[in-house]
Amino acid sequence: MGGSGPEVHLRNLNAEQRAAVTFGIDESGAARPGPPLLIAAGAGTGKTTTLAHRVAHLLIHGADPQRILLLTFTRRAAEDMTGRVRQICSRALGREIDFGTALVWAGTFHAIAARLLREFAPKLGISSGFTILDRSDAQDLMDLLREEAGLAQHRKRFPKKAVCLEICSFAVNSGRPLAEVLARRFSWCAPFEAELRRLFRAYAEAKQRQGLLDYDDLLMGWAQMLECERLGGILRERFRFVLVDEYQDTNPLQARIVEGLCPDGSGLTAVGDELQAIYGFRAASVRNMLEFGRRFEQPAAILPLSTNYRSVVPVLDFANALMAESRESFGRRLVGRRRSEERPWHVPVADEADQARYVVEQVLANREAGMRLRDQAVLMRSAHHAGLLELELARRRIPYRKYGGLRLLEAAHVKDLLAFLRFAENPRDRMAGFRLLQLLPGVGPAFARKVLDRLEGLGFDPSGLALLPPPPAARGLWPDLVTLLGRLRGSSDWPGELAAIRAFYDPLAGELYDEVEGRLADLDQLALAAEASPSRRRFLADLALDPPLGSGLEAGRPVQDEDDLVLSTIHSAKGREWKAVFVLFVIDGWIPSDMATGSPEEIEEERRLLYVAVTRARDQLQLLVPLRCHVHADPRIGDGYVRAAPSRFLTAAVRARCTSRRRAGQGDAEPAVSDAEPEMLLDLAARLRAMWER
Ligand code: ATP
Ligand code: MG
Repeated sequence: MGGSGPEVHLRNLNAEQRAAVTFGIDESGAARPGPPLLIAAGAGTGKTTTLAHRVAHLLIHGADPQRILLLTFTRRAAEDMTGRVRQICSRALGREIDFGTALVWAGTFHAIAARLLREFAPKLGISSGFTILDRSDAQDLMDLLREEAGLAQHRKRFPKKAVCLEICSFAVNSGRPLAEVLARRFSWCAPFEAELRRLFRAYAEAKQRQGLLDYDDLLMGWAQMLECERLGGILRERFRFVLVDEYQDTNPLQARIVEGLCPDGSGLTAVGDELQAIYGFRAASVRNMLEFGRRFEQPAAILPLSTNYRSVVPVLDFANALMAESRESFGRRLVGRRRSEERPWHVPVADEADQARYVVEQVLANREAGMRLRDQAVLMRSAHHAGLLELELARRRIPYRKYGGLRLLEAAHVKDLLAFLRFAENPRDRMAGFRLLQLLPGVGPAFARKVLDRLEGLGFDPSGLALLPPPPAARGLWPDLVTLLGRLRGSSDWPGELAAIRAFYDPLAGELYDEVEGRLADLDQLALAAEASPSRRRFLADLALDPPLGSGLEAGRPVQDEDDLVLSTIHSAKGREWKAVFVLFVIDGWIPSDMATGSPEEIEEERRLLYVAVTRARDQLQLLVPLRCHVHADPRIGDGYVRAAPSRFLTAAVRARCTSRRRAGQGDAEPAVSDAEPEMLLDLAARLRAMWER
């Protein structure tokens, strides 16, 4: 290193970023954990960049990579970050460094928790072969128990499976008592407190019997380990440096983990932006950030970053105008230096189909002008808002990748295939068993239950099943299934066993579902992903934790490493950036979502969501405002179309930061409503809510 001026790897950073990177690290000796540090700064100011440099700085100064724990919000972010750290280090040291074994502890809270629980399973009284339940599996289990307890039939208004799980999860992640959670967030469910408590107990017991852990169990397990003196001691000794990105979106349980790892804050670095907190509905709490300075025995340093490097000034002006109307903006503003003549576009379109056509035209025009597809993103409030756009993209043969929304994994055929793998991995997993048995013609829940009970009696050896008489319709396939289960029970020949499963399953899928070609293409995609995974267990764990693929069903063909347009929910777009960003459905009822307009806090979270969306744009931002919208056909609403009102966040002051773009040749389709009219013409949100009232 030597010489004057900053070390090589610090030269591209500004002074504030450098201060944050080097804070508390004594450059003369080996890196030692210093006081707690919080980097609190706005969108695009280089928080993640700074965190990556800090990790690199620690490594360059001799920190043991095995003892650095880097927690990110998605698996993808962890991979990006590891790549960046490697680059920074090798540039600084002038040689490639082998990261094969280094920085192994980079991942999401859930992924790291899963690894630690497996490693220490014997000490925790659980089997290391546990299966991880993703959210939709957890919902299915909840549903099963809800029915078994007779809650589904005799009480009509008893909350549905998704709400039950949400309540359960909220209570675990917020660390608040059930009664309080119900009163504050799910008041319409409060009369069922006793039943819910019983249901949650049954849910916990069922998971334990079947060797299953859901996402919340992973975090809770990790927190409990840290609170056990011996195990906690081992983990604290292992992780000397703990670095957390997107701290504003951690929940109290995650904070408990972080504080359990660094009780006095030594070695802890967190970065975040309160204005981008968008996971309140999952119990995330900005208080973790706001109280950071008081949480530890020693004083914490709180450092700012004040220059936005991402977006052009007109985009920042728009974002600032949007937040200026929030009660919570604390007068903060994004300041940047990238000039541009182009202001964000406010684009009224006739309806959803028109929106889809417009976006495709613009994407292609951008590409003509030299912008790759992957530098462009279409963002939406909910994954299913992209339906027509996906069809239009497929029709025009424009490849795309979709993030957020577990589409691929929610598809029935994918769940079927995974049921075989999960059952092979853990034969006590009754959910998986139920699913795969009932694929056979003539097999219903009663016979499936009988098979599973018998299997348990046989010590899970499927060969004995050959003697069980199946329902007549299943007779032809029964011996094949028994053979397959026998093969899967033996040692795993990964990924070869997948071919055996598909030989059995693909013809069945043809019987069970329409559009089978698209479905088989999805399974091919899954098989490709499986080949890249070292083992069945790892594959299942990765899928459960962070589904890597979007469904190619609508796209008609699977898309690999090509130049793909990005489709993403806003939630999944966190931390990322693109040259051009399109935001779909900037209308009331969509943004803010009618599902989240119950309280002022929820509405503020929706505003921050729009803020996160717009601050993803580097050069071009387009906000789509359909003037007419289709809602699920309901005879009370006529043809299913309603006139939409622009999002309440697009006030006159905010719109003044945009250029309105009228579509050429759309004169006829233009409804007789001026989009300059500021008042809301229809409270669509209220209408949509009313559909669910008795
Ligand atoms: P978000 O709030 O969205 O998570 P962030 O604060 O983490 O954003 P980054 O993603 O780290 O910001 O950085 C935003 C962009 O600014 C990136 O393209 C990054 O490369 C660039 N950038 C950051 N710091 C600098 C710098 N000192 N000089 C030039 N570009 C920079
Ligand atoms: Mg970031």
